[in-house]
Formats: sequence, structure tokens, C-alpha cells
Amino acid sequence: MDEIEKLKIENEELKKMNAVKSDLISISAHQLRTSLSALKWILRMFIDKDLGKITSEQEGFMQKALDSNERMIVLVNDLLTLNHAENTVIKFNFKEVNILELLEQTLFEFYGESHKKEVELIFLKDYKDLPKVKCDEEMIRVVFQNLIENAIKYSNIKDKVVISLKYSEVNKEIEISIHDSGIGIKEEDKSKIFEKFFRAENAKTKDYIGSGLGLFTTKHIIENHKGKIWFVSDQDNGTTFFVSLPTI
Ligand code: ADP
Repeated sequence: MDEIEKLKIENEELKKMNAVKSDLISISAHQLRTSLSALKWILRMFIDKDLGKITSEQEGFMQKALDSNERMIVLVNDLLTLNHAENTVIKFNFKEVNILELLEQTLFEFYGESHKKEVELIFLKDYKDLPKVKCDEEMIRVVFQNLIENAIKYSNIKDKVVISLKYSEVNKEIEISIHDSGIGIKEEDKSKIFEKFFRAENAKTKDYIGSGLGLFTTKHIIENHKGKIWFVSDQDNGTTFFVSLPTI
């Protein structure tokens, strides 16, 4: 092998490693932001005394925590913007997971945020013995977090967000839907919604915090589980995202 050939191979290896690194940064930063946002709403509820009286000293500490939290959110957002990666490689850790439980846990994280926005979260769950799904629990949690976070974020005040689970005996798959009655997605934006960093104009103008990475990540994860993701949306009237995952 001549020197040029060797350099070409090394270059390819470096490109691959760089892509892995970039994706890890994107995904961890995006998740960090979701958790920081959840924390923000909890701290806000304390400061606004939604959870009962607190002393002025306690309020001072809460305010400091909130300020640090805001700074971290800005930092993470910048990190996300900086990190442009084109190739995506993530290692998945598959195990048997109870999807209903996972969805309930994830919903719990969002009660603070939905309460603040007066959005009602409704979970329609009729099943007791749903078959398990072989998946990477943390990655599917990321999927649910992204979709629920968006549904609340793009809802109007006092709207309802309805989450439901369905099992198809015929297709041997679980279908999860997350419905909101919010801003919706314009016809011309529909084909771009899963693209990296894409944010529709109606999402940007209303000043919603976002990076345009959530749905890109979500789709990538679902496809790595041999699942499907799609949506129906009506501009100004709301959106429903669907995820289907094969059961064991
Ligand atoms: P963001 O961080 O901007 O929310 P996402 O990748 O999660 O990024 O979503 C990409 C874009 O898709 C959003 O900026 C928004 O334009 C649109 N979008 C996603 N979910 C919804 C929804 N539930 N209702 C309306 N628009 C949505």
C-alpha cells in the first residue's frame, strides 16, 4: 500500500470518529437541555409560590438556582448550534422494556412544565398486559421526551395534549400517539420536519426555545429499532405524532 492510500484510509477513519463524537455531543446536549428545562419549571413553581409559601431566604436561593439553570440552557443551546455533524452512529443497548411504564415515567417529568402552561396532559391507557418491546430504554425515553416536550411547547395555553397507546395483534406492534391542538405544521414544511436543525417559521417567530435537533434524533432512534415515525398536522389546529415499535 502506498503512502497516499494509507493517508486516505486514515482520513476516512478520522471522519468516522469525528461523526460519532459529534452525534454524542448533539444527543447528550439535547437531553441535557430537556432535563434543565424540566428543572427550570420546578424552580419557577417554587419562586411563584405555586407549591406553597417559602421564606424570602429560600426564594433567594431558588432564584440563584434558576439563574444558573438559565445560563446552562444557553450554554447547551450554543453547544448544539456549534456541533454540526453529518453522520450518525450511536451504540444501542437493547433489552426488554415495558413501554407503558416508560411512557408513564416520562410523562411524570413533564407535569411541572404542562402545569405552568396550563396544558392538560391526558394519558389514555387501556392495557394491562402489553407485550414488551426490545429496545434501548434510555433512547426510547429520549423519543418520548422529545415528542411530549414539543407537544406542550407548541400548544396554546389551556390546550390538551393527549397521549395514547395501541397494540396491534396483527402487526405485532405498539403504536404510541401524541396529539396536540397547537400551532401545527405548514404544508410546505412537512417534508423538512425531520431534517437536522430544521425549525419552521411559525415555531421560530413565537420565540419557542429549540434547536431543530429533537425530531432528527428521534427519527434516527426509531429507525434503529425497526420502528416507524410519522405525523399528521393541520396548520393552526394541531399535530399528532405516531410512533410504532415491534413487540417481542
Ligand atoms: P425544536 O427544538 O425546534 O422543537 P425539533 O427537531 O423537535 O426541534 O422539531 C423541528 C421542528 O418541527 C420544530 O422547530 C417545529 O417547527 C416543528 N414541530 C415539531 N413538533 C411540533 C408540534 N408538535 N407542533 C408544531 N410544530 C412542531
